[in-house]
Amino acid sequence: MFFKKKYSIKNIRKYTVGIDKKVLLHNNKRVNYINFDNAASTPTLVPVLDKMNEFLEWYSNIHRGTGYKSKISTIAYEEAHDIVADFVGSDKNKNTVIFVKNTTEAINKLSYRFPLNKDDIVITTIMEHHSNDLPWRRKAKLLHTNICQDGRLDLEDLENKLKKYKGKVKLVTVTGASNVTGYINNIHYIASLAHRYGAKIMVDGAQLVPHRKVNMSGYKDDDYIDFLVFSAHKMYAPFGTGVLIGPKKFFQRGDPEYVGGGTIISVTQYNSYWADLPDKDEAGTPNIVGGIALAKVIKILNEIGMDNIKKHEKKLTEHIIKKLKEIPSVNIYSSINENIEDMVGVISFNVNGIPHNLLASVLAYEGGIGVRNGCFCAHPYIHKLLNLSSREISRLQKDLIMGNTKNIPGLVRVSFGMYNTIEEVNKFIKVLNLLVSNKK
Ligand code: PLP
Repeated sequence: MFFKKKYSIKNIRKYTVGIDKKVLLHNNKRVNYINFDNAASTPTLVPVLDKMNEFLEWYSNIHRGTGYKSKISTIAYEEAHDIVADFVGSDKNKNTVIFVKNTTEAINKLSYRFPLNKDDIVITTIMEHHSNDLPWRRKAKLLHTNICQDGRLDLEDLENKLKKYKGKVKLVTVTGASNVTGYINNIHYIASLAHRYGAKIMVDGAQLVPHRKVNMSGYKDDDYIDFLVFSAHKMYAPFGTGVLIGPKKFFQRGDPEYVGGGTIISVTQYNSYWADLPDKDEAGTPNIVGGIALAKVIKILNEIGMDNIKKHEKKLTEHIIKKLKEIPSVNIYSSINENIEDMVGVISFNVNGIPHNLLASVLAYEGGIGVRNGCFCAHPYIHKLLNLSSREISRLQKDLIMGNTKNIPGLVRVSFGMYNTIEEVNKFIKVLNLLVSNKK
């Protein structure tokens, strides 16, 4: 047991919404649902729901009201921004925290705000979620950093690209942790590299921030993170709040993509003046309750301790990898070396002779276990991990366009939250073993 008494796993489970649900199996047996799909979204927490309910009683629109409720809502919403900044080690004097809808919106916003010419270069990586790839394609020449044989980022390739295109590369945009393999990238080393060659860095923290202590300010002069994005729904708050953090100086320049109420301090018939940050970049009435919920989650995560969460999830990850390795027909695409420090609890695999979609369905119907299968919005990465040839990739693309999804390659993904247990992993392995032995 790693957590403080108040936050023992038992207590965390008690306060995690909906994880006590029973589901019906194909044999009419009811079993406890096991949620191993936390990389997609995590369940929320009872104290967060309580906080939202409590807040809704005092809720009013922010900023403009003179009434008591509007004042408290404004204070709480503004405080939520500060709580988020502290949580990820962002310097409040230097940076602004902008609330958006999710990580995807945050990256799209940044790609809109980032001054790029068509012949400027943005370097991303092969291992990105599509949300940290497609927005940049529209704005600049996009280069992809390769991966090594084991699926980890090829840092030499990144440095070579930075060297070769020095002066042209304006931004390096990289995931903090992969939503396919769980690999954690060395974001501070990458930040130093980017800065050395005159580029800025954006970190997609969607899979990192819920699992590791993040420190945007860095540890040395040049290894700070310029921009960070992440989603509340992957860290035990409800859907609808995303975060974009970056330098005030940067966002003070230029125009936001959405304009209207909230974004200005003065409008005449002929001109207008932008409001201070973050209002300038949070057009219209924002998701106030979502911001309050995120701030509450952060308080809870801080009390539990990110290091405790890391230790617990590491234990789960080590255990599942050990058990999966004991099944000969299983191929694991996540880390199988000893360096498990460098990954979050996201493990992708498949089983020889069992299509990924069938495997995922059987896990649900035979075990009440929710996983995810397919290409997890990271098609180029999965193509590489599966060693698909360019011919196979173009055939696959044609199939998808024609709606022929029958034999689409993909993986099965297990992803842990802080409330998952070793017993759940053992149940999962039991069902998987049954499946594999029935196949023989
Ligand atoms: N980036 C990564 C690494 C992700 O895993 C995800 C979602 O799974 C996203 C971005 C997109 O997040 P959202 O759907 O909250 O915009």
